[in-house]
Amino acid sequence: MAECLFCRIASRELSSDLVFEDEQLVAIRDINPVAPVHVLLIPKRHVGSLAEVAEGDAGLLGHLQLVASRLARELGLDSYRVVNNCGAAAGQSVFHLHYHLLGGREFRWPPG
Ligand code: 5GP
Ligand code: ZN
Repeated sequence: MAECLFCRIASRELSSDLVFEDEQLVAIRDINPVAPVHVLLIPKRHVGSLAEVAEGDAGLLGHLQLVASRLARELGLDSYRVVNNCGAAAGQSVFHLHYHLLGGREFRWPPG
């Protein structure tokens, strides 16, 4: 989608602080980090949110979590949180599916 911010970042049309890239996704530093480590895992293919995934997206969803696990290890995190905000009321502000990998501080439960 030409006008989607994360499509433009994932295609490298817009610059970002890239942590990792493969054929399916990019991982970038969040522009407004809420933890010492705050990485966004963004699929290259446009999917609006977790509510819009289909059976055929199982491989992509698994891959996103595998990469989150691997990046957490490579970034030296032994405790971390992987978050998806789905829908505006849950805090989603960019309507292109992404996971937040957060670490480097303690987290409370339940989240706010
Ligand atoms: P959401 O609120 O949709 O779950 O997460 C969107 C995230 O994208 C926010 O944490 C926000 O700081 C981040 N973000 C928004 N615009 C940009 C941008 O242009 N570059 C980067 N790296 N992060 C962004
Ligand atoms: Zn998009």
